Amino acid sequence: MKITAVEATLLKVPLDGPLRPTWNPGVVHQHTYLTLLQIHTDAGITGVGAGPATGFEGVVGVHHFLAGSLIGKDPFATERHIKLIRSASVRIGWTWMVEMALWDIIGKAAGLPVYKLWGGYADRVKAYASLAETRAPEKAVEDAWRLYEEGFRAIKLRFREPDVRQEIRVVEAIRSALGDRIDLMVDANQAEVMPGSGDYFVWDYFIAMDVARALKDLGVLWLEEPLPRYDLDNLARLTERSPLPIAGGELNRGLHEFKLLIERGCYHILQGDAAFSEGMFQLRKAAAIAEAFGRQFIPHTWSNGIGLRANLQVIASLPNAGWLEFPYDPPAWTVQARDRMLLDPLTIDPDGYVTVPQKPGLGFELDPDAVKRYGLAIHIPNI
Ligand SMILES: [Mg+2]
Repeated sequence: MKITAVEATLLKVPLDGPLRPTWNPGVVHQHTYLTLLQIHTDAGITGVGAGPATGFEGVVGVHHFLAGSLIGKDPFATERHIKLIRSASVRIGWTWMVEMALWDIIGKAAGLPVYKLWGGYADRVKAYASLAETRAPEKAVEDAWRLYEEGFRAIKLRFREPDVRQEIRVVEAIRSALGDRIDLMVDANQAEVMPGSGDYFVWDYFIAMDVARALKDLGVLWLEEPLPRYDLDNLARLTERSPLPIAGGELNRGLHEFKLLIERGCYHILQGDAAFSEGMFQLRKAAAIAEAFGRQFIPHTWSNGIGLRANLQVIASLPNAGWLEFPYDPPAWTVQARDRMLLDPLTIDPDGYVTVPQKPGLGFELDPDAVKRYGLAIHIPNI
């Protein structure tokens, strides 16, 4: 089989309302952007991947740095192509969508979902509702009940306010209202923020430790990104002394960074993402290092419906994941908004699990009408 064409398109997908995510303080999101990548082959199979985008950077980068080198090559040779994908990532950012699309081709050629080619560890995965916004205690309790009634048995809350005591009150309020019906995680999003953010409060080691102790008493499962991404000394100190697991690594990149984080003891739970961190098969190598050190590897998944599916295939293949981050914060970030470019929205079962799609490849079908509707055209000159 040979690659015959590589096609990249920027999609601007409307949300179902304004979203104020904690990872972009002061910014209101009305849309989500993604670079949709389609790799066509002479066998008539097309592989699909997607990368996070803020504009046309992915489309231009694929055109300039990747397409010409991939055409005529064997899509199965992912270990050869990863060198090209990595070198392009240095110039243009998140190029891991190329590996995603190649594995979609390989799964489709084999007639199997990718996770079954990689060990098929789990056919169902427990999902947690991953919120994007902070909320006041009363609203948080109301929303937690609603999520519980929808079937979720775990919720990840966001912290971003300057007064952490106020945020701990949110967790206390949910715990006292719902008791042990629901598992809770907390994401402080301190590792970094998106460009264009307004002013925001940054934690230090002592705040992170105080919050970790308070959350332990409230039965929270993990504290995520409590410190800046490369504050490795304090991350290691916190992980060593924290009474509850510390999670992070969602935007760390490359095997070498995951090796460093694990060797330095920076997190109990590593959270590399197949859209942001590395190619999805490469991410399994980072997960194997984590496994050898007795650590969990629970991928981050907040990008778009396609990134979520790719990470789900990785998770379902791993013995040391066990959770699926289910990006969900209605009324803005709904299943419909997240999966608007797909024909088969991913939902949870009534008991809070996600059944891994059994369609070959990454387990989804692109909606060609939606691609036309949300695709933005650009003319790229040959230079
Ligand atoms: Mg996170």
